[in-house]
Amino acid sequence: MSRPQTLADWQALAASLTVESRAFVDDAFVDAASGETFATVNPATGETLAEVASCDATDAEVAVAHAKTAFAGGAWSRLAPGRRKKVLLRLADLMEANKAELALLDTLDMGKPIASSLGDMAGAIACFRYQAECIDKLYGEVAPTGEETLALVLREPLGVVASIVPWNFPLMMTAWKVAPALAAGNSVILKPSEKSPLSALRLAQLAKEAGLPRGVFQVLPGYGHTVGKALALSMAVDCLAFTGSTAVGKQLMQDAGASNLKRVYLECGGKSPNIVFADCKDLDRVARHAAEAIFHNQGEVCIAGSRLLVENSIREAFIDKVVEAAATMQPGNPLDPESFMGAIVDDTQHARILDYIRKGVEEGATLRTGGQALEGPGLFIPPTVFDGVTAEMAIGREEIFGPVLAVFGFDSEAEAVALANDSHYGLAAGLWSQDIDRIMRVTRRLQSGQVFVNNWAGGDQTMPFGGVKQSGNGRDKSHHSLEEYSALKSVWMSLAP
Ligand code: NAD
Repeated sequence: MSRPQTLADWQALAASLTVESRAFVDDAFVDAASGETFATVNPATGETLAEVASCDATDAEVAVAHAKTAFAGGAWSRLAPGRRKKVLLRLADLMEANKAELALLDTLDMGKPIASSLGDMAGAIACFRYQAECIDKLYGEVAPTGEETLALVLREPLGVVASIVPWNFPLMMTAWKVAPALAAGNSVILKPSEKSPLSALRLAQLAKEAGLPRGVFQVLPGYGHTVGKALALSMAVDCLAFTGSTAVGKQLMQDAGASNLKRVYLECGGKSPNIVFADCKDLDRVARHAAEAIFHNQGEVCIAGSRLLVENSIREAFIDKVVEAAATMQPGNPLDPESFMGAIVDDTQHARILDYIRKGVEEGATLRTGGQALEGPGLFIPPTVFDGVTAEMAIGREEIFGPVLAVFGFDSEAEAVALANDSHYGLAAGLWSQDIDRIMRVTRRLQSGQVFVNNWAGGDQTMPFGGVKQSGNGRDKSHHSLEEYSALKSVWMSLAP
């Protein structure tokens, strides 16, 4: 079929899909050693898509052994960077050729709109291409020593990298971890979320087709407390590259300390402030961006602009505009290319979001729109906006990970900065203003891994992505991410006089 365009095209492609649901270990798809499976369910329909291999500690041990063997063998780890690049570019081409299918798997598995999944695929493919192109352009160093010495600083791969990823951007988050780790020469074991394992397994098929040697890229679907935990505690995993919640990130650091002190890179949660100053020019445009910043991907976004801070002199009028914009962003069938929002990933997340909405009302915030789940089938929650939120309220402090916007008012720049920084998270922040002096002052004061000025979520492969404070310590994307997956080796050579 040519590239699907309409709802009917996507439904036809979904009906014809066969999915791989076994783990990919060493060089082949296999059942979990225990024979156990778990169901992965389409949240838009309640239909079970597949019974997926539920890996545990036994599978982790086997995969780690294969990964170590592959690393020691050197077929990938010692391959010239330019040749690794060729294989990864081939993989990116295969992803491109299978883009519709990969996007569909993510949409069916976790409920995001198909247009959004296609955007994710473009990002995932671009990430593989960028990291592949980087790897044969990074030089080591010769340190400035005297003539009697040659002092080299070499970069070497670490060994076995375990990538543990979430479900909100299944394949894109995977690419952000796996592409640089592979480019740097490591053996990678990917643990996708139990809520969205299917695109990762398809990626394993494509990686094999692209020519990655056996044992270099393996995929272990399963739960966090089983296979995830086993990887975190493994004595033979050299690095944990994690994207997910802050609570699990903290646990992984403890697991690393309790085992072999493996490197731990964390991309965790957020409660990101989006600050609108009264001097903005086009408030309609800003309101639309502010609504998109929270309602995109059903609000299931680490950098969702979930705290909207509005200067009080324009607050009433501005919230009206946000509510108006939100009305055009209602959830719909995820397979419909016109849908802006899709379904919430599962029952647990759906109940959690509704619980926060209930708390918001109880704690005295003003519900301006939304607030009720849509009638089933399927798990849908409309854009929800609360005004009059304070930092003491649960909806003002905690990451909801759903389409719920908390609006705060402020009177001065200093108050806006204080409110913005009053969070244990520090992933993203936005500010909207025409005053360049203010923009620079506020940007420098915001405690955040990234700051968006007069936009939300801008960035491409050239920009590092990550947080400060309890949003984590890692940096995905850009050539900086390669630093996480390699170690410096200092070589001091004494030369004959
Ligand atoms: P989660 O922490 O529940 O799970 C993430 C992954 O960790 C999953 O694969 C899960 O199975 C695994 N896991 C869970 N417990 C584990 C354990 N004890 N040991 C090892 N692995 C374990 O998060 P989630 O619900 O999948 O994703 C939502 C969270 O991810 C949000 O907090 C969101 O902000 C965050 N996130 C952050 C970024 C970022 O770049 N900073 C990007 C996307 C999502």
